[in-house]
Amino acid sequence: MPASRWEGDGMAPVSENHRHESDPGRPSTAIGQVERDGSVAPLIELVGVEKSYRMGRLEYRALRGIDLRVGVGELVAVVGPSGSGKTTVLNVISGIDRPSAGTVTVDGLRIDAMSEEELAVWRGAHVGVVFQFFQLLPTLSALENAVLPLDFARRGAKRERFERARHNLDLVGLGDKVDHLPAELSGGEQQRVAIARALANDPKLIVGDEPTGNLDSVTAAEMFELFTRLNVEGKTVLYVTHDLGLAGRAHRVVSIRDGMVVA
Ligand code: ADP
Ligand code: MG
Repeated sequence: MPASRWEGDGMAPVSENHRHESDPGRPSTAIGQVERDGSVAPLIELVGVEKSYRMGRLEYRALRGIDLRVGVGELVAVVGPSGSGKTTVLNVISGIDRPSAGTVTVDGLRIDAMSEEELAVWRGAHVGVVFQFFQLLPTLSALENAVLPLDFARRGAKRERFERARHNLDLVGLGDKVDHLPAELSGGEQQRVAIARALANDPKLIVGDEPTGNLDSVTAAEMFELFTRLNVEGKTVLYVTHDLGLAGRAHRVVSIRDGMVVA
């Protein structure tokens, strides 16, 4: 996916009219918010999600009825063979793609019912996405990359945006390299910039599509520590990995095969 995908995100002012039915007095736990009946309120709920691609006369069913719930505060790993539909699942959750059938509800909002434009604005404000190949803009410094989603969402004054981006780079341990270009950073450092960028608008949800897939095992483990820390600090984290060691350290592993969730 081209890095310019970001250029379309969140150009319009952020709307704050999303539905919130949560009771502020309701107790919450490290893993999920507890409903009155004791069940966990999902941050993400996919019901019967299908995705088909038309290729000439043929229709290819990449997702064949995915049902998935992820609770507030969960750390979930998504695993499965190449081509099984992992990226497609993540993309319908983050609003990069839309399902052909079924419903996708995130934080109480039916995102499958949104227009492309609404979805771009929503995504820019509510989801942080981290990709395998970082997708940083090569001519911008770490700081300029990390500030982009704030600029697109037009959040606060310019100086505040830069302060916030600088703070996020500090959080990921890159406070001393804010002026470096991506090419002047290691793979792990570039992924840290991408994580700082994902944190820009303080989203509840962080989604990573093989975020450690292009890193050596030591750096991958460090990156996983960072995701874990963000999760402990309150983010719901969903990431695809081929590394079963890293997957095993999530709260839960979701296996996808042939476009379906398997037990
Ligand atoms: P994974 O991430 O598990 O490797 P993907 O979600 O990327 O799998 O893809 C699932 C299936 O959908 C694959 O067979 C892939 O070739 C197909 N697919 C993905 N995107 C497209 C597209 N834009 N057009 C046609 N087929 C696609
Ligand atoms: Mg993939």
